[in-house]
Amino acid sequence: MKYVIIGAGVAGIEAAKTIRQQDASGDIVMISQDTFVHSRCMLHKYISGERDEKGLDFTERDFFDKYRVHWKKGVRVTNVFPDKKEILLDNGQTIAYDKLLLAGGADSFIPPVGQLRQASNVYGLRNLPDAQAIVKEAQWAENVLVIGSGLVGLDAAYGLLERGKKLTVVEMADRILPMQLDARAAMAYQERFEKAGARFVLQRKASQAVCQPDGRIHQVILDDGEAIPCDLIIVAAGVRSSLACLEGSGIACERGVTVDASLKTSAADVYAAGDITALSGIWPNAADQGRIAGKNMCGIAAAYTDTYAMKNTINFFGLVTLCVGRVKEEEGDLVCIREDQNQYKKILLKDGRVEGILFQGNIANAGIWQYLIKNKIDVRGIKKDVFDINYGDFYHVGDRGKYEWVIESL
Ligand SMILES: Cc1cc2nc3c(=O)[nH]c(=O)nc-3n(C[C@H](O)[C@H](O)[C@H](O)COP(=O)(O)OP(=O)(O)OC[C@H]3O[C@@H](n4cnc5c(N)ncnc54)[C@H](O)[C@@H]3O)c2cc1C
Repeated sequence: MKYVIIGAGVAGIEAAKTIRQQDASGDIVMISQDTFVHSRCMLHKYISGERDEKGLDFTERDFFDKYRVHWKKGVRVTNVFPDKKEILLDNGQTIAYDKLLLAGGADSFIPPVGQLRQASNVYGLRNLPDAQAIVKEAQWAENVLVIGSGLVGLDAAYGLLERGKKLTVVEMADRILPMQLDARAAMAYQERFEKAGARFVLQRKASQAVCQPDGRIHQVILDDGEAIPCDLIIVAAGVRSSLACLEGSGIACERGVTVDASLKTSAADVYAAGDITALSGIWPNAADQGRIAGKNMCGIAAAYTDTYAMKNTINFFGLVTLCVGRVKEEEGDLVCIREDQNQYKKILLKDGRVEGILFQGNIANAGIWQYLIKNKIDVRGIKKDVFDINYGDFYHVGDRGKYEWVIESL
């Protein structure tokens, strides 16, 4: 059996590991544009100078030898031909497969604002070469502009602040990390970033950006007319699944590659996992999908059921936050807040079920909240402060390997 995996990110790596655990003798070929295995979540540590390329590797030592994975690095898959069960590489080579995994992740999205897409001093932050280019430019750049204050924008900002750069972050929303945090939790980070030298311009959009004869943009004009001078621009305005090599393949795609619960695509023996599916966009889910696809590729039935996409741990300047589920308050929510000098905790309950948590400062014992949200457990029967719910309030019963949690006091 020959397994071919496109992508050496966490989804591809976890799939390879899983396949080897199930199939000791099959051939596993992994193909990636990446020449270093690296954690995207750690790129800010590379920008800040805290880690080198090797320090971003998240695999165990001798991973490729240990799991007998043949890694073809630094090559791009240009086409997939499901009818012939072949893929084509940019070096002209074709590779046949019995089972194929699409784990190509996503690409930075640069919005069509002015000439952002044409300028040579505009970067996304998705992979190591982006981070390397940013570090190179940052050596002499005096004015850095970051467009977007989501996790990726703030990662870039953090890394550059640690290098002593002053920078401006422009954000359309009324707070930073708007997808993850509420105003109170966001302000705690904003203050720390400002202390480190960042300036935030909120509720503003970049509206004009013109390349000068040197091919670079030297200022970006915002929608209120303010001109922000810049030598280096980092755009963190979202990602798009890497679907280019699937054009003409007939494999069904919408925002990402369309998959069923077993992560099988519309083509026979072709699976997809990780950001390319657009099911989630976060590391632990990409890893889970890799493992689940790997099992199914070996004929062991497994389903991906983690449909709540939002689950983030954020840590900047020593302040840690965990958010799971929904952040935005809705009509009919019971909003519970507990705060003191060291922590801010918010729980959103609807009809007795926890739909979202945001814990800042102290994220201990978070496991139970993830379980309650995922399984939509009704907690109304527990006669105590919701913040004090713990595993002791439950017992579980095994049912052919499936755990069911029952509230004792109900
Ligand atoms: C800056 C940054 C910070 C992040 N921080 C967090 C965080 O704190 N927490 C969190 O949970 N998530 C975070 N994420 C998201 C997380 O990194 C992703 O969800 C995860 O990396 C997805 O893994 P993946 O394997 O699907 O794709 P990727 O990691 O993107 O890997 C894709 C692989 O496919 C290869 N590839 C793509 N197209 C081709 C092709 N045509 N031919 C050959 N190879 C190809 C690439 O070279 C790469 O090896 C962050 C992402 C970024 C960019």
